[in-house]
Amino acid sequence: MSKEFNAFEMAQRQFDAVADKLQLDTGLRDLLRWPQREYHFTIPVTMDDGSVKVFKGFRVQHNDARGPAKGGIRFHPQETVDTVRALATWMTWKCAVVDIPLGGGKGGVICDPHDLSSREQQALCRGWVRQVAPNVGPVQDVPAPDVMTNPQHMVWILDEYEKLAGGHFPGFITGKPVEVGGSLGRTEATGYGVIFTVREAMKRHGMSIKGVRASLQGFGNVSQYAAKLFIELGGMVVAVSCWDNDDQCAYTFRKLDGIDVEYLLSITSRFGTIDKEKAGENGYEVLEAEAWLEQEVEILIPAALENQITGDNVGRISEKVKVLAEGANGPTTPEADAVLKEREIFVIPDFLANAGGVTCSYFEQVQCNMNFFWPKEEVLDRLDQKMTTAFRAVASLSEETGEYMRDAAYMIAIQRVATACHLRGWA
Ligand code: GLU
Repeated sequence: MSKEFNAFEMAQRQFDAVADKLQLDTGLRDLLRWPQREYHFTIPVTMDDGSVKVFKGFRVQHNDARGPAKGGIRFHPQETVDTVRALATWMTWKCAVVDIPLGGGKGGVICDPHDLSSREQQALCRGWVRQVAPNVGPVQDVPAPDVMTNPQHMVWILDEYEKLAGGHFPGFITGKPVEVGGSLGRTEATGYGVIFTVREAMKRHGMSIKGVRASLQGFGNVSQYAAKLFIELGGMVVAVSCWDNDDQCAYTFRKLDGIDVEYLLSITSRFGTIDKEKAGENGYEVLEAEAWLEQEVEILIPAALENQITGDNVGRISEKVKVLAEGANGPTTPEADAVLKEREIFVIPDFLANAGGVTCSYFEQVQCNMNFFWPKEEVLDRLDQKMTTAFRAVASLSEETGEYMRDAAYMIAIQRVATACHLRGWA
């Protein structure tokens, strides 16, 4: 990651450009450029060896004009408050673009869960929520999984919160296991949502997914399910990249006649590392980290972390690429974005492409509130409808006005949030 990269500066730059287009007045700009509230705290954890280790945690609530703040909690060794601020800001736009009644928030802990035992992770989760319990909750701020957090972490957080609150509040957190009030389809939702938008983009270009090739960055929750659905719809995934926990770097796994997601999963460790040797013996080429970016494919899907397609490597993208769907949050820097725009690559911006996760989280809350749970088909059907409607609104605005897809998505989202702030009399 380049030293100068600051995700929050990037989020603010993106906002400023669209605020100009929308001619927002100063008060509203000042309000929306910054989080409404943020909490910084320490979490002491008694480690398995008896020592106490203190972790740093954050929760940022960017805007709650449209509803309670909503967004995941990340565990990451390089977490910074500015990254959490950026991600919270993007959550506000994400919930607005798919038109769900939620605001934007994000949390983080500076830690590497690979170095923590299950008991230590549980203590960290419980410690995190104890620090913010008075400021979060089903009607204030609703967390969810994100990078390196999972449904088990969510239950520990829920359980601690319920102990403090003295009752059952399943709508406090989403991404729970289905056995404890989770929604069917939540695991698949973000990756599937990416492909619903890709499918719609292809339709708009008069193309079908059949026979089309894709290359993905990452092999986590988003990438795995995006690849699965893309293949199910008749496409072919020729490459995925994956972080290698032993070597502390990523590799690209390429198979020109199409990767097999189930096979790769069968040789992936519990830390998410694909076994290079086994892959090599089974027809996969093991290439360097960024090789995923220069594959001769029609579709590129960065689905790992922020700051991955930069001014330095954007030139490696093949002439063949038609659609770039951002499965991750903030994968493309403004410098790289300008090049994509210039090359007329059809970009499905992050807060639209990856909104499937939070949309399904909203369905999870709705089901928890009703205490009545839908079958998986119903959840995925509703998800498809929401994503398709949002995609079409953005693509139509982009076609009508000639605005770049990212700007069109921002215009719709910012306008919705600005209207809510205005109606509340905030600005
Ligand atoms: N962490 C996911 C995101 O970035 C999901 C958030 C949620 O479900 O609240 O969109």
